[in-house]
Amino acid sequence: MKKILLEDEKVIIYKQDNIDYLQFKRLLEYPNLIHAYTLKSKGELNFVPEYQDSEMLEKSKQKICKVLGLQTQNIVKPHQTHTNIVKKVTEPIEKFNDVDGMITGKTKIALCTTSADCTTFLIYDPVKHVIGNIHSGWRGTVQKIGQNAIKEMIEAYGSKPKDIICCICPHIRKCHFEVETDVMELFKKEFRNLSLGEGIIEKGQIIDGKQKYDIDTTKINIELLKQAGLKQENIIDSGICTVCNESQFHSYRAHKQQSGRNAGIICRY
Ligand SMILES: [Zn+2]
Repeated sequence: MKKILLEDEKVIIYKQDNIDYLQFKRLLEYPNLIHAYTLKSKGELNFVPEYQDSEMLEKSKQKICKVLGLQTQNIVKPHQTHTNIVKKVTEPIEKFNDVDGMITGKTKIALCTTSADCTTFLIYDPVKHVIGNIHSGWRGTVQKIGQNAIKEMIEAYGSKPKDIICCICPHIRKCHFEVETDVMELFKKEFRNLSLGEGIIEKGQIIDGKQKYDIDTTKINIELLKQAGLKQENIIDSGICTVCNESQFHSYRAHKQQSGRNAGIICRY
């Protein structure tokens, strides 16, 4: 049985066989596309790294695949290490290390990345039929992995930026992304020439004598995608903060070392 837990103009969160997952209305317009961003589902889903709990990972894969109508052997999940490297995938058996983004023009390849607060982009070019799945934590954002993904799609498949749709999954937002001077300086250095407007980096509270800063990575990523040629109306932000909603989503800030992982999945049939 499939039930709606939440619906707004951009996303729907479904519950099906005790599995909770979010989908973007914009991507649901394409019948040959399967996608989801998973929720904790009361502990049913946790896409932990293989070396931590391979059984949990395998079970989570099986459960989400059953609900979405995918096959687990078609899932490609790289070993992510906060790089800005995006790879073209041509076979579902491919293994990737130190890769944080994947694109493919092939059907029956389910691109999967995992995160706990980091940003996931689910990307689709409905003209060239290319999909992408990008993991962009703050390090990936500073290294502009989103722009790399668009560049790779243009080079590998002849995608036109104006056709590309990019959906921004739940992630830690400015309300909770608090950093210290070292990280703030990296953002300031990298994005000083980007016309981002007010409020991208704001002085926050002082804790134990240390000045904290609040950074709006959402706005930075949207600006980077627009700079890469994407249309504003083709960038869809879920608007959900994983820390604010830590009872529903795995969140590293909220759960520290015990944190599990959410998964973003996209596949074309
Ligand atoms: Zn928040």
